[in-house]
Amino acid sequence: MIEEHDALTIRCPQLGGEVPFRYCRTVNEGLPCRQVIICWEFRFAIRAFLNEHYSVDQIERALASPAKTRIQTIVELVEKARKSKNEEKR
Ligand code: SF4
Repeated sequence: MIEEHDALTIRCPQLGGEVPFRYCRTVNEGLPCRQVIICWEFRFAIRAFLNEHYSVDQIERALASPAKTRIQTIVELVEKARKSKNEEKR
């Protein structure tokens, strides 16, 4: 059953505190966290767990890199604003 490891806890490198596996398997819009294999592979057979409970498409979506991080988006917006300000001055 998909809840079998839910009560296990681990220190989350992103949050800096303990989280239960239930969080890790649902945090990504209901799908597992992108880091789920790295974080959990030494605790139980996470790859087998993913294969058993998720489709290939779901696993690919879950583990894919995000298009952009929030920081990248903010940096791009600041650069755009700077450019348009410089163009106004000309
Ligand atoms: S799998 Fe994701 S949410 Fe879970 S501990 Fe690792 S980084 Fe944190």
